[in-house]
Amino acid sequence: MALEIGTDVPWNAAWSGEESYEVRPCRHVSGRLALWSPHRPGAGRPIFARPHMVRQRRSIAEMRCTVCGEVTIESARWWFPRGDWIGEYWMSTEGPVHSGCAELALHTCPTLRKTAKPPIRFPSGARAILALVGGAATERDFGIKVLGRRIVGHLKLGWREPEFLTAD
Ligand SMILES: [Zn+2]
Repeated sequence: MALEIGTDVPWNAAWSGEESYEVRPCRHVSGRLALWSPHRPGAGRPIFARPHMVRQRRSIAEMRCTVCGEVTIESARWWFPRGDWIGEYWMSTEGPVHSGCAELALHTCPTLRKTAKPPIRFPSGARAILALVGGAATERDFGIKVLGRRIVGHLKLGWREPEFLTAD
């Protein structure tokens, strides 16, 4: 049975047929150099645990739902609060979701069901933050030599005062 994107597999998940990396300017980070993979959703098998690099940045830059890929409007924008403190910001690579899509994801994804806190209204005050890649891990994981270049990996969301963490 064919897997359907947006139902069986989230829009932002990478597929094994997309697993090759290059460095290219990316329009989702103002044309900066960024890790790039081909866009071939449906090719090979889905890799649920790993978002596709370009779609991940796009979901944050355009506030697209990570499950269905459609733009979320502010009044109907939900979010799984997953992240960590890095310096002065609580940062996350999670893009927003629609509430119906969040329910679907919780229903179909065992990892999410086990580990995720329930989705919340998308918290205000977020800044988009560029996460640069570098070091030995970049060469090992992506086969990319950084060579002193500033290369963006994920686009993150960061909050200086993440009041949603203490809301409950
Ligand atoms: Zn959606």
